[in-house]
Amino acid sequence: MDKCIFCQIIEHKIPAQIVLENEEIIAFRDINPQAPVHILIIPKKHISSLIELNKNHDELIGQICRVAKELAKKESIDSSGFRLVVNTGPNAGQAVNHIHFHLLGGRKLKWPPG
Ligand code: AMP
Repeated sequence: MDKCIFCQIIEHKIPAQIVLENEEIIAFRDINPQAPVHILIIPKKHISSLIELNKNHDELIGQICRVAKELAKKESIDSSGFRLVVNTGPNAGQAVNHIHFHLLGGRKLKWPPG
């Protein structure tokens, strides 16, 4: 079976604009950006969605949130504000079944979201 598209990015089998990579995490620009800054932050371990998380993932998810803050600083959206979004399941429009955190900023974001 083919690996998921994000696992292929992790393995550098398909190209992506990678902005950060460490042992556990990779972050790259969304191919269809919804804001001036739109970065996806994902764990290298394949976890299909937020629903799959358990206690063993606590440190990983904490690290992802810290990376989000660091990237927000790097992209100069830390003081203007940003959003970290995890679409989960069909009603939220989750299209890729590999957990991913959207870091969105660089414009005024509407609330409530669509
Ligand atoms: P979601 O709807 O939350 O599952 O978001 C999936 C996101 O992945 C969308 O914003 C897509 O634009 C993005 N995406 C899909 N394929 C790629 C890719 N090859 N490189 C970068 N972003 C991608």
